Amino acid sequence: MPDLATVRYAVEGHVCTLTMDRPEVANAQDTQLIDDLDAAFDAAGADDEVRVVVLTGAGRHFSSGHDLKALVGDVEPDEWRRMRDTPEGRFQHEKVMYFDRCLRIRDFPKPTIAAVNGSCVAAGLMLACMCDLIVAADDAVFSNPVLRMTGAAVEILVEPWEMPPRKAKEFLLAAEKFSADEAEKLGMVNRVVPADRLLAEAHELAERIAKVPPATAQVVKRSINKTLDLMGQRDAWDYHFMAHHWMHNTATALEALEARKAKGSMSEVFAEHREE
Ligand code: ZN
Repeated sequence: MPDLATVRYAVEGHVCTLTMDRPEVANAQDTQLIDDLDAAFDAAGADDEVRVVVLTGAGRHFSSGHDLKALVGDVEPDEWRRMRDTPEGRFQHEKVMYFDRCLRIRDFPKPTIAAVNGSCVAAGLMLACMCDLIVAADDAVFSNPVLRMTGAAVEILVEPWEMPPRKAKEFLLAAEKFSADEAEKLGMVNRVVPADRLLAEAHELAERIAKVPPATAQVVKRSINKTLDLMGQRDAWDYHFMAHHWMHNTATALEALEARKAKGSMSEVFAEHREE
């Protein structure tokens, strides 16, 4: 069982539960959390007893997205953040740590279920959508309000695949928030359950899936993913990743980034963008 700083790893029967464990920052994803999740999936993949993985967040929220404080805030930069001073470095950071790490979960050979509680924002939504199924607590709220901060959405554009294109445009351009019930109507989530039943219901579903022989589950999952690839999902995501990076390097985005860095604290940045 891996010993991880920011992800709790627990196996019960055939179900492995990964709990992102930075509740003090709503499970914002920093380098450590992304590395820990990757190591946790390594361990779950290598354990033949594990047939299904449930991914959830400790505390009130699933994930608030990438840890902006670690990226642009007043903290000691890590190796990845230092790379971000150039377009090449920024590209490399997001390709390895965001794009590839997420697709690795999407392509993980065993079925996965995201159990989404509270806020599921931006890169938190991207992460949840990498899972095969999503069970949402009735208090879950989905949003991706980064366009106002100049971002061309996040690194993987899940929205056109999770909801009808017109809704995807509304969600992104108008910074809409979707409740769990709305997300269920759109087909983004499989089922909505009472918040205090979230893990129990996700586990019940996982145990049903665990009755399928692992080889069969793997083949069917891969075949459905291949169908999506043939519909253009992988190509569209490759295109979006390049477009997302073109946007990162525009004067519009770079000037906003400098203004953000000049701010005293991240709370000022968030206050400025907080929704009225
Ligand atoms: Zn980016």
